[in-house]
Amino acid sequence: MRYEGDIYRPPSEAYSYILQVTIGCAHNKCTFCGSFKAKKFRMRHLDEIFEDLRMARRYYRKVGRIFLADGDALVCKNSFLLAILKEIEDLFPECERVTIYGRAKDILRKTDEELLELKAHNLKMIYMGVESGNPEILRRINKGETREEMIAAVRKSEGLGIPTSLTFLSGIGGREMWRENAIDTGTIISEMEPSYASFLTLMIVPGTPLHEQYMRGEFELLRPDEVLKEAELMLENINLKKTCVFRSNHASNYVSLKGDLPQDKEAMIQSLRVAQQHSEWWKDERYRRL
Ligand code: SF4
Repeated sequence: MRYEGDIYRPPSEAYSYILQVTIGCAHNKCTFCGSFKAKKFRMRHLDEIFEDLRMARRYYRKVGRIFLADGDALVCKNSFLLAILKEIEDLFPECERVTIYGRAKDILRKTDEELLELKAHNLKMIYMGVESGNPEILRRINKGETREEMIAAVRKSEGLGIPTSLTFLSGIGGREMWRENAIDTGTIISEMEPSYASFLTLMIVPGTPLHEQYMRGEFELLRPDEVLKEAELMLENINLKKTCVFRSNHASNYVSLKGDLPQDKEAMIQSLRVAQQHSEWWKDERYRRL
């Protein structure tokens, strides 16, 4: 398979065929993110993408899932995405689902009809990095999207029957704003009602603006017990009526946690309280990964 640069995909797409439809991230300005700093954003040519698909067809006997990379492929116009989805349908009739990274603005820019067209051609999930529910933190990390936009986008997608899988970053408010990060992230999840939500834990990536702030002493990382305390407060502030699959078992997390909200909320809060007292349960820094 042909790939340009490093490839990033959600953990749940570990067994998917990854198809690069764009190179890089059209935003590429989040202060903590180093994923696409080496790439200048562009859409790939359809011919090239189709060639990749034909290569994959020759190589793999069965392809159950396909993930469209890179950073926010949903930014592409619908005719482009539809052409790819239709080619996938022709070449991989066995494919159960196609998923994609998207930003709130990508979802809001598309009409309901456009999103439904993508859904009709097997787009089954949109992954979105929300990071925090706090407006000031979103501004500081240069997310380029507001709390309101992200709530509206998730509600729109979920309302049209396209599930969303959202990631949030424990510790992204630093020591100064951990409490705001916890409470506002809990309430944004309550307002969004996503199908899936996961907490990752911030790791500072050299070469990013956040790393520079950290080196200048302008940003303080939370200790592992503080990260767990923050997650506890986030969970306390999540009040959902419909089921949301919750995961905090990424390689960056100090303690692994999973359950369904709201059913398992109290049990997960209790686990976090106990884990704060047991440093021997925390993942060693050497084994944390992004
Ligand atoms: S976090 Fe997502 S939106 Fe922000 S720069 Fe990285 S890939 Fe782009």
